[in-house]
Amino acid sequence: MKTSNSTFEEIGKILSSAGKVLIFPHVNADGDAIGSSAALCRVLRKMGKDAFILIEDDIAGNLKFLDDGLTTFDMDALDADVSVCVDCGETGRFPKRADKFMEAPVTVCIDHHGTSKGFCTYNHIDPGAAATAQLIFRLIKAMGVEIDKQIGEAIFAGILTDTGSFRYSNTQKETHLIAAELYDSGIDAATVAQEIFETMRMERLRIESRAIETMATLHGGKAVLAYVTQKMLEETGASMDETEGVVGQLRSIAGVELAVFMKEYGPEEIKVSLRSKKYVDVAEMSSHFGGGGHERAAGFTLRCSMSEAFDRVKEYVMNMAEMK
Ligand code: AMP
Ligand code: MN
Ligand code: MN
Repeated sequence: MKTSNSTFEEIGKILSSAGKVLIFPHVNADGDAIGSSAALCRVLRKMGKDAFILIEDDIAGNLKFLDDGLTTFDMDALDADVSVCVDCGETGRFPKRADKFMEAPVTVCIDHHGTSKGFCTYNHIDPGAAATAQLIFRLIKAMGVEIDKQIGEAIFAGILTDTGSFRYSNTQKETHLIAAELYDSGIDAATVAQEIFETMRMERLRIESRAIETMATLHGGKAVLAYVTQKMLEETGASMDETEGVVGQLRSIAGVELAVFMKEYGPEEIKVSLRSKKYVDVAEMSSHFGGGGHERAAGFTLRCSMSEAFDRVKEYVMNMAEMK
């Protein structure tokens, strides 16, 4: 059962009356999670609050420009009056920080995943929003804080990454309207895009090509599966976050409806990314495996070996009615 949404006015009031706030993006944070967190953290600091983004893994190299003393790994950085999770809707999405999150007397969830149920004191979950950053924009407006260049660029980064630079089907009129308004706060849109998409290391290109070589096709090329192992990362010198674009590249192949990319984080930890082009509901597929996400982008984690995970997912895809 979904809980009903609190308004941004209500959440704004809660944040305004707090002194210390901790922000929790999901693990392996993407541009939306970091951009949303950075924008909110800057706003709270502007209001004179003690605010930090608590993380549990390194920020991807191409997103580091959004962090300027905002993030911390220190669980004791502060005892928050309010914990806010952004771009995720369950403590399993920030496992090592879950207890810390729940310690706060008031918890808030701001998210756009339809699979999120609303587990916090106050929740605003809007699956219609292309990015959580759009919701953060609305929240900041409701709080009456001026959006400066840095806040604007963090929101823009979130929108840009979750919409594939305004290309994906989640992009709405409102997405463009918000982006347009951000120009009024002086954002340098081209520089943000360059930081995110055009600062690749050679190692990234090498791991992408290795991963794409593993591709298997099903249903006459309508579905593709590929993977990356720790060994492949060692051999290319790349890090796992540098494989983030692979699943989108797989989907971009002509005739592909469903792209599956499997990442070996550890011997028994396989994270699976799903993307679809037009009609397969990958949120449903990821829910089957205990994960979540959106209709066209979703993910889940399997606790088994890569070969077992590959077989399980392949079996599922072979039997998908929509693909036949
Ligand atoms: P990714 O493939 O990791 O980029 O994730 C695609 C989408 O699915 C993102 O919106 C994620 O937040 C969501 N997602 C990925 N993994 C999970 C998971 N294990 N549980 C819930 N949602 C997930
Ligand atoms: Mn995300
Ligand atoms: Mn998002």
